[in-house]
Amino acid sequence: MFKTIDMLDVKGKRVLVRADLNVPAKDGKVTDTTRIDRSAATLKELAAKGARVIVLTHFGRPKGREDKYSQKLLVEPLAKAVGKPVAWADDCVGPEVEKLIASLKDGDIALLENVRFHPEEEKNDPGFAKQLAALGDLYVNDAFSTAHRAHASTEGLAHLLPAAAGRLMQAELEALGKALEKPEKPVAAIVGGAKVSTKLELLGNLVGRVDYLIIGGGMANTFLFAQGKSVGKSLCEKEMADTAREILDKAKAAHCHIVLPVDAVVAGEFAENAANKVVSVDAVPDDMMILDAGPASTEAVIDRLGGCKTLVWNGPFGAFEIKPFDAATNAVAQWAAERTAQGRLLTVAGGGDTVSALAKAGVEDKFSYVSTAGGAFLEWLEGKVLPGVAALG
Ligand code: AMP
Repeated sequence: MFKTIDMLDVKGKRVLVRADLNVPAKDGKVTDTTRIDRSAATLKELAAKGARVIVLTHFGRPKGREDKYSQKLLVEPLAKAVGKPVAWADDCVGPEVEKLIASLKDGDIALLENVRFHPEEEKNDPGFAKQLAALGDLYVNDAFSTAHRAHASTEGLAHLLPAAAGRLMQAELEALGKALEKPEKPVAAIVGGAKVSTKLELLGNLVGRVDYLIIGGGMANTFLFAQGKSVGKSLCEKEMADTAREILDKAKAAHCHIVLPVDAVVAGEFAENAANKVVSVDAVPDDMMILDAGPASTEAVIDRLGGCKTLVWNGPFGAFEIKPFDAATNAVAQWAAERTAQGRLLTVAGGGDTVSALAKAGVEDKFSYVSTAGGAFLEWLEGKVLPGVAALG
């Protein structure tokens, strides 16, 4: 279990909040304020409760102090999102920062410069963590997306100050808990995407946790190949065939039912609107490649999911970026969104391409929870303990 803001008495206290404000920017202007807007809830709540809020965050991967990674550009959009002025400090430790923090009144919010301007941040240097801790009385971590990294501002600090999860972190952990830790059964996972090799640990963890593991995308080709089928010119990691067979065996032993495609949409080239046809997975022509799951597979997946209460999803069923090879992903996503709206299925999805695939299908805000956390979400699917989360226990 983790602590939440409800368990902290924040009035009059200096609260260090680790937020995820790593937003896209161009020519010194923020181009997408989603992360800022989402982070505002915790900051506003703390300020309303009389805390002196001090925001720590990172931006990019600077090597020491690099102006192009300064977070000053966040001050304006952040002030807009929280509905009050945001004070700015040119660094995240040191006498100037201390002076600024000493001048804060209850309810004020300050943003500090990029924590990654100090290489000690990513090394989780104890001295640096101590310097940060000296700036506050309490620590709130609201950045799930960096919780898989044990850095000074994401992990070290939690051991030095009374710590709790912010509202965003809390929402993410609650959603993930409902999906895999204490799910309503039966539980299904869809794992799609390009390659088996990038998702080995994830597949290994899921077969021990879910009732149905639905495999899609390029990685399904490797499983089909491992079962002795010919996959033509398809993306396929032939050297992973043994590993795929091991996963199938492990699933059998764990009573996890694996669902593989029964038909496929094939084309001669990986291109938008390439001439295509539907074939059985037993009849993929040598000169063609599988670019999507076929209609019978889609129907079988939906049929299987119809008996499930919980769905965890990472990775598309096909090359969703190019039409018409987004059809299976769209159909399953739209069906899952409808079931979610009916209250019959809990749907949690995440990991890089999955968010854009669901957005393309028009359902990103119709799932129970879509995680934008990328690497942290994937590590959670792999069953790893995230150091930033463990430290809040
Ligand atoms: P991932 O990042 O592992 O989730 O993989 C997502 C990528 O897998 C997307 O760029 C898709 O275009 C790609 N993909 C999915 N299915 C196929 C397929 N059958 N052949 C080639 N690429 C695919």
